[in-house]
Amino acid sequence: MAGIGAVAPKKQTFMQAVEMLEARLAGRLIRPGDSAYEQARRVRNGRINKYPALIARCRTTQDVVLAVNFARDYRMPVAVRGGGGNGNGFATLNNGLVIDLSLCKGITVDAVTRTARAEAGLTVGELSRALQVYGLATTTDIWPGSGMSGATLGGGTGWLASKYGLTIDNVLAFELVTVTGDVLTVSATENPDLFWGLRGGGGNFGVVTAIEYQLHRLASVLAGMVIHPLTNAGSVLNFYRDFSNSSPDDVTAYAFLTTVPDVGPVVMVMVGYFGDNPAEGERLLAPIRRFGPPYIDRMQSVGYADFLEMIAWRAPEGRRYFEPAYAVDQFSDKALKTLIPWAERMASPFSAIIIHPMHGAATRIAPEATAFALREPHYVVVHMAGWNEGPATDQVHWAKSSWAAMQPFAASGLDVNFIWGENEDAVRAAYRTNYDRLVALKTTYDPTNFFRLNQNIKPISTALRKENG
Ligand SMILES: Cc1cc2nc3c(=O)[nH]c(=O)nc-3n(C[C@H](O)[C@H](O)[C@H](O)COP(=O)(O)OP(=O)(O)OC[C@H]3O[C@@H](n4cnc5c(N)ncnc54)[C@H](O)[C@@H]3O)c2cc1C
Repeated sequence: MAGIGAVAPKKQTFMQAVEMLEARLAGRLIRPGDSAYEQARRVRNGRINKYPALIARCRTTQDVVLAVNFARDYRMPVAVRGGGGNGNGFATLNNGLVIDLSLCKGITVDAVTRTARAEAGLTVGELSRALQVYGLATTTDIWPGSGMSGATLGGGTGWLASKYGLTIDNVLAFELVTVTGDVLTVSATENPDLFWGLRGGGGNFGVVTAIEYQLHRLASVLAGMVIHPLTNAGSVLNFYRDFSNSSPDDVTAYAFLTTVPDVGPVVMVMVGYFGDNPAEGERLLAPIRRFGPPYIDRMQSVGYADFLEMIAWRAPEGRRYFEPAYAVDQFSDKALKTLIPWAERMASPFSAIIIHPMHGAATRIAPEATAFALREPHYVVVHMAGWNEGPATDQVHWAKSSWAAMQPFAASGLDVNFIWGENEDAVRAAYRTNYDRLVALKTTYDPTNFFRLNQNIKPISTALRKENG
């Protein structure tokens, strides 16, 4: 097996060590040839086609410790899989070990303190549904299929960020397995340096096995969508920009340029009111329902988890994706005029341009308070090419060309959850002045860059450290 280095500890052969790992796991070790292997090696993006040597499907924190120790001792490269939702395919690899958290689905809710401890294999949809039973929620990614832990570690924008801050602003503690196999509690009072770094620093510091979240009362939301023909995109996006720029913290609106089955090419605005006064919600959402008027208006009072499901159809598992993104501080008229013709030229009905706003509470936290530095109001724009089969050429060309055409309007820096590909400059730009502190933290906690399949923060090399005394 490639990727397996040097000498086995305690004079075990590698195969003996694999068997011992298999015997000790409460979860399951999946190998090539096992019936579960084909499904287990895959991630959401069907373009990613990697063949791991072993997949440790962990059930407990101790399983994660065993898997980390095994991979470190046998010098196997590792990938950590939360929900497998990241389009870059960081959650799988060729010839190494996948630490797969998908069986870690435990949730404990304390309705009195409004907190929950969630294990790291839960998806956004699973956690939100469990919390909905209690009339509680926390900020999540807009796509229910994303892994809650992966999305959290990158910051976590979403519907509730304008009211309650990013997902990381609602984290009370992490449980972390480090490269040395130690299990740490990471909070404001225990390992506070790591608490700062895990809130936005991605999977760079170890495997997070559980997260404790602050929750908020959210019995239901007034939410839904208005849909206009794509031919009206100019006026609708102008209206959307003004509506979004002036939205109070209780209201957030996303825009999608896409194709809706049985309807055709559209501009769709999804919007939610997250306050506790339904009459006020009706009043705040009335302008968006009146404008046009839209040819479809579906607004209703629903549970938060049900609202998330309304968009699940847009990004099914297994479809092929190529989805570069950028941020804009503000949409100028010229930026909108440049963007819209690219929506008209999408090469597939499964493609979309998605405009994610960030405003309100998430932007009132200091950039240096957590690793996530991009705290000014902005929009993230994703050019998501999606297709089921056939060559990638036209799809990739559309995504790359439309992305390139918008670069004159792009801000510097993009949330790491949305960075496409492995791009050191983009990682530096995302962390701005927090970058050096993150490098120091990485050098302390993962000096060999064992956890490197992520938006990677490189440690200072041993040689350089010696040189600098
Ligand atoms: C359709 C769609 C919509 C999205 N919308 C949003 C949005 O609204 N807001 C937003 O912020 N992001 C959004 N994202 C981005 C998404 O949050 C990231 O892709 C995130 O990385 C997904 O997490 P995951 O656990 O599913 O990913 P994975 O592919 O499993 O992992 C992604 C990275 O995180 C690391 N990782 C995951 N779990 C752990 C863990 N427990 N411990 C250590 N490292 C871990 C992995 O090693 C990998 O490097 C969206 C993505 C998609 C596909």
